[in-house]
Amino acid sequence: MVLDKLGKSLRGALERLTKSSVDVKSIKELAREVKRALIESDVNVPLAKSIAERIKKRSLAERTAGTLTAREHTVNIVYEELTKFLGKEYDEIKVKKKPTKIMLVGLFGAGKTTTAGKLAKFFKGEKKKVALLQTDTWRPAAYDQLEQLSKRIRVPFFGEKKEKNPKKIYKKYKDKLKKFDVVIIDTAGRDALNKELIDEIEALHREIKPTEKLLVISGDIGQAAQSQAQKFHDTVGITGVIVTKLDGTAKGGGAITACSATQAKVKFIGVGEKISDLEKFKPKNFVGQLLGMGDLETLLEKAEKVIDKEKAEKLAKKVVKGDFTLSDLFEQMGAMDKMGGLSQITSMIPGLGNKIPKGMLKKQSEAMKVWKFAYDSMTIKEREDPTIIKSARIKRIAAGSGRSDHEVRDLLAKYKKMKKMMKAMGSGLGRAGGMGDMRALKKMMKKGKLGI
Ligand code: GDP
Ligand code: MG
Repeated sequence: MVLDKLGKSLRGALERLTKSSVDVKSIKELAREVKRALIESDVNVPLAKSIAERIKKRSLAERTAGTLTAREHTVNIVYEELTKFLGKEYDEIKVKKKPTKIMLVGLFGAGKTTTAGKLAKFFKGEKKKVALLQTDTWRPAAYDQLEQLSKRIRVPFFGEKKEKNPKKIYKKYKDKLKKFDVVIIDTAGRDALNKELIDEIEALHREIKPTEKLLVISGDIGQAAQSQAQKFHDTVGITGVIVTKLDGTAKGGGAITACSATQAKVKFIGVGEKISDLEKFKPKNFVGQLLGMGDLETLLEKAEKVIDKEKAEKLAKKVVKGDFTLSDLFEQMGAMDKMGGLSQITSMIPGLGNKIPKGMLKKQSEAMKVWKFAYDSMTIKEREDPTIIKSARIKRIAAGSGRSDHEVRDLLAKYKKMKKMMKAMGSGLGRAGGMGDMRALKKMMKKGKLGI
């Protein structure tokens, strides 16, 4: 598995943190382990040292945030420090211009031709009209190699087997390529970035004016990727990097961090010889892998939930007072979903617990999804004060949302009833014992008066 080794040693250190409590000694050990693991994965030494140092300093100095445990807090610091120089999100290739021209450059054997095929499959999967163009006139087999790949993924292929001038090949097909969303252009490499290669790339670049110029680089060269990426960036200019062959090397961490250190960010990684072995490079996931994915996912989810919980508690307070608006209801839907739905929200109202039948809540949540369409077609004023929504407005909202008048009326009626019910609960809870109105509420529910 990619980066498995690095992941394992970091996970080991983090596990030890769980067993022992988080103290100065264990934090120092963790920082040492992070440094060792990064260096082992060929990350450059000063960088590894400075990351470890920051982790140590911050873990010792910062207090635990919110309801995160000390260990989670420390993991979060490790995560933040590692993502700081990688970026957090996937740096997307936007397909706006037609055609979006993606030119691949790199040395011999870096994986350009293979990656051209992989990218074509990727964009085809995104429902784009894709074409492949071969301009490598240097290697005799390049034409056949890409043609075969194009047949396998059923993507139109353009190239000239006999032509020796790559610029002429492009010129010949330039017009034909205009009807595609994405054109992926394979180019010739050399053993090193020599003058010949620089000249060729520059000439092609001037002719093609590509939207993206991506450097394809082999991950097995580890941190040496930095000087190569930098050189390409400085001499021919690149807009991004694809690091290949990460499946067969323990140096992947080094190659990726090294490339990320240049201005051009890693966009994709190659993780095998198969045409589907291409992944978007998502720094968050990458660091997640280093730290043990499960760990990080739960942690980030938890951090999210801490925030959602605060929002939900605010809502619960409004609900108890009976003054929640339609916007409150819908804006919290996202948070509710994440927290396990409406039942979680009601369980937060002290004293109410699980007194509302589960089935009813489920039905309610499903209905809300349908109502969301209607809600989206309302004005802000209507959302804040649904009582102003009369016939004409109902018609407009129904037309705008593609729901029926009946469904919009239904939403408004349910909202009213729900507000009433919530208010009843709220006032019940306001009293000592809190059960006074609960009985009345139960009665109403039994009789189906609330209709939810
Ligand atoms: P080019 O000279 O830059 O066009 O490189 P090629 O696309 O011809 O690839 C050179 C070799 O690397 C081929 O044998 C590919 O199968 C192999 N290769 C490319 N990408 C990957 C990858 O992500 N993983 C592995 N294991 N092999 C790869
Ligand atoms: Mg090639």
